[in-house]
Amino acid sequence: MIRLGLFGGTFDPVHYGHLRTVDAARLELGLPEVWMLPNPHPPHKLQSPLTAYAHRKEMLRLALDEFPGLKLSDTEERAEGPAYTTETIRRVVAELPEGPHDLWLIVGADSVADLPKWKNPEDLFTYARVAVLGRPGVDLRSVPPWYMSRVRLLNTPLLPVSATEIRNAIRNGLDTADALPIPVRNYIDLNRLYRSS
Ligand code: ATP
Repeated sequence: MIRLGLFGGTFDPVHYGHLRTVDAARLELGLPEVWMLPNPHPPHKLQSPLTAYAHRKEMLRLALDEFPGLKLSDTEERAEGPAYTTETIRRVVAELPEGPHDLWLIVGADSVADLPKWKNPEDLFTYARVAVLGRPGVDLRSVPPWYMSRVRLLNTPLLPVSATEIRNAIRNGLDTADALPIPVRNYIDLNRLYRSS
């Protein structure tokens, strides 16, 4: 039986709010591995200026040295156009070796609140179970019961950090040391990322 977690994101940049919570999720769900799937063209962020995919992917690769249970997956590179999560999961399943598998899609609480707006959200549950990371300040009361009854809420730590805050902090010359792995901070400095808006 292949047991696997999937965690998608923009990762602009990847931070400890992603890394520590998803690694805690991996342990709570008893999964040997979670694949981190950077999205080249996130459908919900098509209007926002994103850092080049190559930079976002490289920062993720550098960050994962500290987290041996988390692996980088480039599955979403193979999507034509914007990569929708349900299609990504279908692609992952098609590329797994033959045999039974148990897949968990791990998402942050803000993403589960958006689930009803995803493309074909009901199909998602035919491919994977969904586990939700707590995120400070996110209220799940407005999520329809159909979805809430199908997801597992995890007891992962609540870490008040977001990529938006990190980008703003760097732009304003503030310290981001607690939120980013050292190799990611060095990569951002070397490539002068997030300096201007
Ligand atoms: P941005 O601030 O640019 O929107 P973000 O920090 O929310 O970015 P994303 O790459 O958009 O990061 O998120 C990827 C996934 O990680 C989403 O499911 C999101 O809910 C989750 N996530 C991000 N930060 C946290 C956090 N601090 N705690 C729990 N989940 C998080």
